[in-house]
Amino acid sequence: MATKGKNSAPLPRPSRSEAEAAVETLIRWIGEDPKRPGIVETPRRVVKAFDEYFEGYHVDPAAILAKTFEETGGYVAPVLVKHIEMESRCEHHLAPFIGHAHVAYIPDGTIVGISKLARLVDVYARRMQTQERLTAEIADALQKHLKPKGIAVMIEAEHFCMKVRGVRKDHAATVTSHFLGAYKKDADLRQEFLRQIKG
Ligand SMILES: [Zn+2]
Repeated sequence: MATKGKNSAPLPRPSRSEAEAAVETLIRWIGEDPKRPGIVETPRRVVKAFDEYFEGYHVDPAAILAKTFEETGGYVAPVLVKHIEMESRCEHHLAPFIGHAHVAYIPDGTIVGISKLARLVDVYARRMQTQERLTAEIADALQKHLKPKGIAVMIEAEHFCMKVRGVRKDHAATVTSHFLGAYKKDADLRQEFLRQIKG
């Protein structure tokens, strides 16, 4: 699932000890002594933390959306799960970007467990990301596996690569949205989505 370079095959996955050695190199790069007792375990801990930050590479979105329900009782309105806590890492600095995702879809005879929408956000958030692509990938996965009449995804997040480095803007929030199907065609539906999020 790793992104391939244009003409080259992906390099083989390094071993855990190779990954730990890479962290040790960074520690030496900043001028620290990796043998100092307080940080001697840090490479191991960092690699373990990376397992968590990037576990999305090892989860198949199709499996999350595999179980659907047809007994909707004639429900036809949008299903919106808003303020899903979201934590991802920018692919340019590996700095966190943290905020909320709002996901809505209009069922076409099939629904999915609402917790699965939050899981779907996690699967794509726990990868190296841009907020723009994260927003589109969540929507596209729903389109591919659930095929609803419409999808709306919005993410609001603060980027630590802007807060603690570079331009150092502490309270800037980035908002991205991706609309498919009925939400793309119908401005009233989009307005309703935005009204419900703010409500
Ligand atoms: Zn960044």
